[in-house]
Amino acid sequence: MDEKLQPILDEVLRRNAGEEEFHQAVREVLESLGPVVARHPAYADGALIERLCEPERQIIFRVPWVDDHAQVQINRGFRVQFNSALGPYKGGLRFHPSVNLGIIKFLGFEQTFKNALTGLPIGGGKGGSDFNPRGRSDAEIMRFCQSFMTEMYRHLGEYTDVPAGDIGVGGREIGYLFGQYKRITNRYEAGVLTGKGLVYGGSRARTEATGFGAVFFVRQMLATRGTDFDGKHATVSGSGNVAIYTMEKILQFGGKVVACSDSGGYVVDESGIDLDLVKQIKEIRRERISEYPRLKGASAHYIEKGRIWDVPCEIAMPSATQNELNGKDARQLVQNGVIAVGEGANMPSTPEAVRIFQEAGVLFAPGKAANAGGVATSALEMQQNASRDSWSFRETEERLERIMCNIHDSCADTAEQYGSPGNYVLGANIAGFVRVAEAMRALGLI
Ligand code: NDP
Repeated sequence: MDEKLQPILDEVLRRNAGEEEFHQAVREVLESLGPVVARHPAYADGALIERLCEPERQIIFRVPWVDDHAQVQINRGFRVQFNSALGPYKGGLRFHPSVNLGIIKFLGFEQTFKNALTGLPIGGGKGGSDFNPRGRSDAEIMRFCQSFMTEMYRHLGEYTDVPAGDIGVGGREIGYLFGQYKRITNRYEAGVLTGKGLVYGGSRARTEATGFGAVFFVRQMLATRGTDFDGKHATVSGSGNVAIYTMEKILQFGGKVVACSDSGGYVVDESGIDLDLVKQIKEIRRERISEYPRLKGASAHYIEKGRIWDVPCEIAMPSATQNELNGKDARQLVQNGVIAVGEGANMPSTPEAVRIFQEAGVLFAPGKAANAGGVATSALEMQQNASRDSWSFRETEERLERIMCNIHDSCADTAEQYGSPGNYVLGANIAGFVRVAEAMRALGLI
């Protein structure tokens, strides 16, 4: 760690005690910034980096709601408005029992750099609740979303803060949230939320965007080694929004997905994962992935609580949650011949795992670059809302593809400029940082 940056990290650790994921995210970025601060010392002036590590605003609120048995339930809601130097705060909402302030801060911090990398005018934010949607009826989900928005709405706006989905928040939840926002404000402000349904202002290709974008990014990395997805075996963790559309694009590119998972365990299918069946189980029936072998038959088996990373593959795409791939998993993947790892999730690989991949010469795409296609397409949704326009799937996907190629090239070029060719972690952190830092300097001490 650079000697100018170490005291900044020390202060972040002191002031945000116990927020381990936030510490991890800040440490990883500061470890990358040494070369840029050495070359451009002005970026460290005016406590710019200290300000970058401190959210502009943190909102925590009570979310009371009534369940189907007429019992009152209380959850905690969060919105961390991290940085608005480049545009309105932008980042998803996560509904999961593990949510706490430290997790939302790590996600908001990452989001700031990710959004900068897209080249689009969006700042960074993140929010959510410790509400557990699993097993809840539609009516309960709706009442929870309405109560959540009854506090949240006053902090949002198309020029202020524009949330979207994340773990546990998909099209259904965005619909209920938007409905309540519209009702309270008496405004049809389509640009206040993204990930909306097509009939009320959503963008084509937004549902697919994060997964498709991650695969576009990995394709670009593979091309630097003169190879591609064709005929390669891939493992994708998770079976939610990001995982499903990651698998879809891998299949379109001629790859074979051999395993996917949920928080209960993983399935391996020697004949290749049947994506229609996964969609049926997870998107329509909202069941567990353990149902897959029962419906698919002999080629598939389910391993409860196992490590999906034990399954041999050439391409691994962790797409479930933070720190789901540790050093031991990374060693196993390397031993099994993995050549590329693309993070669909946010910070799914532990720092030790990242180090092992990099030392082994594995192509490694960090989440803040590889999964930026979701937020980029959210920004395209905002553009369509602002111009009362609606683009075709093809046009939107082409824009997404161009954006992902640009992000790839910008990370690769930056890594090279700063003396670490092929280091996408360093490239993403520096390229994102420079864009936010330039804007923060121009805006003065705020
Ligand atoms: P979903 O809720 O649609 O799916 C999440 C998947 O991950 C599910 O299969 C879930 O299993 C699994 N999972 C969640 N938590 C855990 C856990 N603690 N341990 C093991 N498995 C877990 O979420 P998304 O697909 O939207 O998000 C996945 C990741 O991608 C997150 O890191 C998110 O921040 C990131 N991301 C999402 C974007 C988006 O556009 N949606 C954009 C950029 C990043 P189960 O069903 O059992 O809970």
